[in-house]
Amino acid sequence: MKALVFHGPGKKAWEEKSRPTVKLATDAIVKVTSTTICGTDLHILKGDVPEVTDGRILGHEAVGVIDEVGSAVTSFKKGDHVIVSCITSCGRCVACKKGMYSQCEDGGWVLGHLIDGTQAEYVRVPHADNSLHRVPAGANEDELVMLSDILPTGFEVGVRNGAVKPGDTVAIVGAGPIGLASLLTAQFYAPAQLIMVDVDENRLAVARTLGATNMVNSGAGNAAEQILALTKGRGVDVAIEAVGIPATFDICQDIVCAGGHLANVGVHGKGVMLKLEKLWAKNVTITTGLVDTSTTPMLLKNVIAGRLAPRKLITHEFAMDDFMKAYETFANAAKEKTLKVVLRA
Ligand SMILES: [Zn+2]
Ligand SMILES: [Zn+2]
Repeated sequence: MKALVFHGPGKKAWEEKSRPTVKLATDAIVKVTSTTICGTDLHILKGDVPEVTDGRILGHEAVGVIDEVGSAVTSFKKGDHVIVSCITSCGRCVACKKGMYSQCEDGGWVLGHLIDGTQAEYVRVPHADNSLHRVPAGANEDELVMLSDILPTGFEVGVRNGAVKPGDTVAIVGAGPIGLASLLTAQFYAPAQLIMVDVDENRLAVARTLGATNMVNSGAGNAAEQILALTKGRGVDVAIEAVGIPATFDICQDIVCAGGHLANVGVHGKGVMLKLEKLWAKNVTITTGLVDTSTTPMLLKNVIAGRLAPRKLITHEFAMDDFMKAYETFANAAKEKTLKVVLRA
């Protein structure tokens, strides 16, 4: 089969690999029909994730059809259409029993990281019963790829950790796919004001069409001042950090109001300066987290019901054979106006 293979920092190839086989009785082999590229894959290619070794197939998001199941898999059979979760979970360990699948003792984020991933014609999914979701008949399978990672991440780590409530003022710093997923799912709770912050005018324009009430361009370095002006100096109830650099975390620290929440979603490669001298007396809650994907079934129901439309995040479509071109398009997001790319078998 063909797969997108990592060969050390800066090196990747769409090349021939042997097709995965069932290794454990709880495995399923999924024939990938739609997959995508994540910002995390670009981090891996930069060399930011040293656990990913030469020869690893990348990718942790996909929709596909079950090709084979191990003898202990009871919920799925050959031919079933499934969403592959970016988080693999056994469902039985201490972390899984708390619903904290991201910290599973025999799983968590392993696909395209510690084991071969979804950017391939076939992928082996461990703990299949707990790590796959059934695709309802008649669904648009391309848009369901957004349920592998970005929708549950934007919702669980941004919106839910941020405790968004009706009438809240919410600022989302970073209008990439994850920030926009937070924007879409924050609207479950009817916040009064949704302020989107980015340096890219195109992404801010997209955010407006997806429900943002105010757009702030942070390019001039005065985003916090602009947001404080928009909120009559009070600040925001919820600040969602969806970039992962010190400058964007700082914006969030500067705008969160007394009693507010700062929900960090961004993947940080270096430390930030915590302004505890300003925050200590403000009754502020700061949260971090890796997605558990425990809300994927709820999000799926909302997509099927048409209350959540993640297809709006898909800007480019490719055939899998054009994987190298898709990476180029995704890596040049500002120039190509890319949000999510979908690759089809
Ligand atoms: Zn991802
Ligand atoms: Zn577990």
